[in-house]
Parts: sequence; structure tokens; C-alpha cells
Amino acid sequence: MKFISTRNKDIEFSASEVIVKGLSDEGGLFVPCSFPTVTEQELKSYQDKDYYEISAEVISKFLTEFSLDTLKGLTKQAYDKFDGEAVPITKTEDNIYFMELWHGPTHAFKDIALTLLPLLLSESKKINGITEKTLILVATSGDTGKAALEGFKDTDGTDIIVFYPEDGVSALQKLQMKTQRGNNVRVFGIKGNFDDAQNAVKRIFTDGNTIKELKECGYALSSANSINFGRLVPQIAYYFSSYAELVANSEIDENEKINFCVPCGNFGNILAGYYAKKMGLPINKLICASNKNNVLTDFINKGEYSLDRKFYKTTSPSMDIIISSNLERLIFELSDRDDKLTAGRMEQLKRTGSYNISNAELEKLKTEFYAEWSDEEEILDTIGDYFDENGYIIDTHTAVSLSVYNKYVQKTGDNTKTVIVSTASPYKFVGDVLYAIGEDVPEDEMDALELLEEVTALPLPESLSELPSLEVLHSAVIDKEKADEAVIAYVKEKL
Ligand SMILES: *Cc1c(COP(=O)(O)O)cnc(C)c1O
Repeated sequence: MKFISTRNKDIEFSASEVIVKGLSDEGGLFVPCSFPTVTEQELKSYQDKDYYEISAEVISKFLTEFSLDTLKGLTKQAYDKFDGEAVPITKTEDNIYFMELWHGPTHAFKDIALTLLPLLLSESKKINGITEKTLILVATSGDTGKAALEGFKDTDGTDIIVFYPEDGVSALQKLQMKTQRGNNVRVFGIKGNFDDAQNAVKRIFTDGNTIKELKECGYALSSANSINFGRLVPQIAYYFSSYAELVANSEIDENEKINFCVPCGNFGNILAGYYAKKMGLPINKLICASNKNNVLTDFINKGEYSLDRKFYKTTSPSMDIIISSNLERLIFELSDRDDKLTAGRMEQLKRTGSYNISNAELEKLKTEFYAEWSDEEEILDTIGDYFDENGYIIDTHTAVSLSVYNKYVQKTGDNTKTVIVSTASPYKFVGDVLYAIGEDVPEDEMDALELLEEVTALPLPESLSELPSLEVLHSAVIDKEKADEAVIAYVKEKL
């Protein structure tokens, strides 16, 4: 299978090149030349397979340079790091199933891709004969940083440096990063907010002098950003595995169409569902759920993507986004893969802050997707109500998904069986979750975790309960102008 860019179809790349490069030279995103299919027979066979096997089979359809056995080795290594079953499904009431994507090492859905990406990257470098070391730089608003650190720690030939905003992550997220172990990791707080951290990293990526100095030390820069195809492809597998499990449990008939409702930010998760549908999975609607930052709701309902809007800080921070990068891959498909048109629209977005799609494209979009959003009060009420009525506790991001699903049913009357995609452990957002179920929120983070365990009986993961007793290994907080110096100093230390 070869790959092309959404902004230039003339040059083809291999999968391993695409994983190493991340982004195409003219700024487009890599997509497969065509969509492979999963046959009914194959889908049926998934009923008897472990998650790592299904994952390897689905991924092998795209990454044809890797043998199925190699991929199985890698997916096993990645998903062995999960607590028990990698992607369990919980039925809470008739027609509703929660697909829990947060049983990985850092308890957020990013683990599904970031436990595997480092392994795919190492293999891809081998295939392309690249011996240079890779330095991964990440600016994080919380979840990605920790998941990338855990994913890349102690990986040969790779080092990772994470920058988090000193004032922009939760106490628990900060502690998770400051106690990170591994012989190839470094974490810095940046004085400022997420934009300051992001801009500091972007400057390094475009600074010729720093890049040259790194090269002299044997390093090439890379990013673990969600636009890398290597982060997207592992996410396709759980749409198939969850479907197969529902058939195996006689919850649905073979070939019965179901909905997936997905809490969206950068549009990577739901796009993987759209790819699964293109590969033959019987999906009715993909429901795109947003919080108050509802740029995607407007786009899917009106056909205009506009950046002219206020940014809100919400209780579901991983969905607080205005530029949703993976949408470009969807636009490309809607336009019947018109690279010139896609490039033009992205250029227009940069220049004018908005672009429109045609009415025909909008109609197509609406047959595949439904979009709605919920405000902060609705989201917290949803957590409280669902816990009261069903004894099932969800985090703030998953609550966006459930709240939007409830509105969808009310508005459309569609009773198609639906998988609610659940993206974070309630413990990761313990303060807001406790508040939502009517508890007084303890000031001390550890007390809060223990209270949530006491009230909900959801087992507190050891990697979170041990946090306060771990040694702080990364306490540096630096000015945003000093990020490049910090990177060079790290690399020199490694020589
Ligand atoms: C990243 C993230 C999302 C959004 O996923 P996208 O692929 O960016 O749309 C939702 N919930 C949680 C908890 C996340 O970490």
C-alpha cells in the first residue's frame, strides 16, 4: 500500500516513509492511496481473537511493508502494557455500550496509539536504513505528554522532551509528568500557557541553527503529534474489535448497522471510525460530540469552517481546540480526493480564517456524520445523572459524548444500537467528576482519588495511587525563550 498527501497526489510514499516523515513537505497529511477492505469472513474471525491480533491484522492492511508476524509482535508488546483487556466494552442499558479506551499506562485514549507508535517508528527507521537518533519534541496540554513519555521511554535510538504549561495542566497531570522515569526522557514546565509551550516547540522545529546543531550531535527532530498516520492507524482497529465483540455476545446481528458516538477534538478518533466504515464495517451514523468549543458542530451542520470564535477553557480540556487538524483528511475524501481543492481550502483557512464546502459535499457529509455539542452544565449533569441511575461513572470527555448522544436520540428518534466512545478514566479528571456527583472536592489530590474510589468502587489504578510517593525527577520550569537552549543542553549531555 502506497500513500499520498492530501495536498499533492503526484508523489507516492511507502508506509514506513510516512511514519518517519509525519507531515508531507508541502504541509499536507498522508493518506492511503485506497482503502483496503475487511471481509465479512475476516470480521467474523475477529470474534475469536485477542485485541492485539485484530489490531495487527487491521494495521497490516495499510502497512504492507511490515509482515503480519512482525506487527503481531509489536501490538502484543504495546497492548500487554494495558490493565487486563485492552479495549473492554461495558453494557449499561439496552442499546448502549461504552467502549473504554483508557485502560492503558496513562489512563487516556492516547495510549492506544502512543504505546504502538514508538515501535512502528523504530521499525520504519530500520526499513529505511536511518541510523540517526530521533528527538521527539512534544508540547502538551496534559494527556498527550504523559502518554508520549510512557510510550517512548527507554526506546533505543529515540529521546523525548516534553514541555507543559506551568499554569495549564491539572495537578495530577503535572505530577504524572514530573515523576516520569526512563533513560531518554526530559520534562520542562514552561512559564505560561499552552500556546506559549506550543510556540516554543514550533520555533525549534523551524529554527535552522538549532536543527543544524542537533544534526551535528546525531539527532533529527520528529513529533508524536496526532496527524502522523502512525497515530491514526492503531485507532481503526477498535471499531472492528468492538463490533465483533457485540456480535459474539449476541447484542447485535451479523451485518447490523450500529452508531458510534465520539468525543472529538483533533478529529483523529472519529476519522478512524470513518476509515473503518470505508473498509466495510457496518456503521450507520458517526456522531461527532463537542463541548463549547463547537467548531466541528458548526462545520458538519453548515458546511463552513470558521476560526472566528472565542476559545473556552472547559472541564474537557483535551477537546478544547479550534483548529482540528485531522479534518483535512475528511475534506479530502468529501471532495473525491481533489488535492488541489484541498490545498486551496487549507491555504484559504490560513489566509482568511475560514473556508466552505459545496452543498453536494455537505449533503454527503451529513449522511455519514451527525454533530451536536453540550455546555458545561449539561456535561456535569450527565455525569451525575448517569451515576445515580446506572451506577456507572464516566469522565468529563465521555460525558460530552453521552450528553450529545441523548440529544441525538431525542431529536432523531433513532434507536440504532450505539457505542459511546469513552476516552479517559474518571480518575484523570477527579475534581470535576467528584463535583458532578455531588461530593465535596478535597483539596489534596490523593484524598480526592481515594474519595472517588470509595464512592464509585471503580478500582484506583496503582500507577495513579503511587504517584505521591514517587520521586520528582523533573522540576525545571523555564522561560519560553529558553526552550531551544534546554533542548541543546539535553542533547550535549547525552554525547
Ligand atoms: C485527545 C482526546 C480526545 C479527542 O480526540 P481527537 O482524536 O483529538 O478527536 C477526547 N478525549 C480525550 C480524553 C482525549 O485525550
